[in-house]
Amino acid sequence: MTTIPRPKDWVMGINAYVPGKAATASGGPVAKLSSNENPLGQSAAARDAFAARAAGLDRYPDAAATALREAIAAPLGLDPARVIHGAGSDEVLNMAVGAYAGPGDEVIHVRYGFAMYEIATRRVGATPVVVPDKDYGTDVDAILAAVTDRTTLVFVANPNNPTGTYVARDEIARLHAGLRPDIMLVIDQAYAEYLAPEEDDGALELAKTADNVIVTRTFSKIYGLAGERIGWGYGPAAAIDAMHRIRGPFNVTTAGQSAAIAAVADTAFVEASRAHNDRWLAWLTAEIEALGNAGLRAVPSRGNFLLVLFEGRLSAEAAYHGLMDAGFIVRWLPGQGLGNGLRITIGTEDELRGLMAALRTLIDDAG
Ligand code: PMP
Repeated sequence: MTTIPRPKDWVMGINAYVPGKAATASGGPVAKLSSNENPLGQSAAARDAFAARAAGLDRYPDAAATALREAIAAPLGLDPARVIHGAGSDEVLNMAVGAYAGPGDEVIHVRYGFAMYEIATRRVGATPVVVPDKDYGTDVDAILAAVTDRTTLVFVANPNNPTGTYVARDEIARLHAGLRPDIMLVIDQAYAEYLAPEEDDGALELAKTADNVIVTRTFSKIYGLAGERIGWGYGPAAAIDAMHRIRGPFNVTTAGQSAAIAAVADTAFVEASRAHNDRWLAWLTAEIEALGNAGLRAVPSRGNFLLVLFEGRLSAEAAYHGLMDAGFIVRWLPGQGLGNGLRITIGTEDELRGLMAALRTLIDDAG
């Protein structure tokens, strides 16, 4: 009898992350509206800073990402020593779970949440606990009711992906106040920069003083640097220390660090991206709502994407394939229990107008 190395049971219990479909050549123009990327690209200054680093390819990056952490911290009034950098915020989420959960521990997240929470939880042998939503949004009471003696970490994304729903400041405060102090609350703010200043959920303020709050953010969304994999987290010194112990040693590239530093400084680009998103998210929401008699419904979103529910003759699955044939890649989410939903990233005006025209044709054809 031969024996072979056996992967851990908890690893084999993971369904690998399924990314949004890549924009491959299909014979026609392709609009990729499936991964919540920035349709305006990125700051020209970030692009220049990235290109300037081509000469240093043979050298390791700054392992501590000191200049990047200082650039992130200054405008937000944070302590740079408590900023931790990651290869995308995915790595920061993994580090948080790696530091605070293991076999026997429970990690809570909402039903319609980011797929990485479950993967990050299972990869350390901990148990994901999934709580029901309230109108597709985060239900603070359901989270608090799911806490047990074994709970060590709670994930909340604000705004949430893939629903776009948003938890107001008082609800975040209520959630935090209702958790035992030995439970780490991880507030994933990948889309926070799309919110107006008055919509700030207070998570960073909380993380400045609380011993059990970690906030994560990313350069992949409004900063348009998804290809470089740069994210960060902010938390209490003890948590940051623990997370550094399991961080990849040179986890953010030299060019990525430079691009991100330039991106933070270009506030005009961020403003323009937010204004574009506000305008076209509102437009797309209204367009979908106008198709209510065909059974389409938009979940009100504060992200750079819109979840559209298909409850009429045209199914989400048929719409997904039909839009793909017409050159529009969107995200169909059966793996997240949203077989009746498509998530559409806010693209350029042309992309969104084209997508709506294609969607109307599909509805007409479905009779
Ligand atoms: N959190 C949420 C809620 C997300 O939607 C994403 C990206 N899809 C991430 C984290 C991770 O993004 P990145 O690793 O590119 O920072």
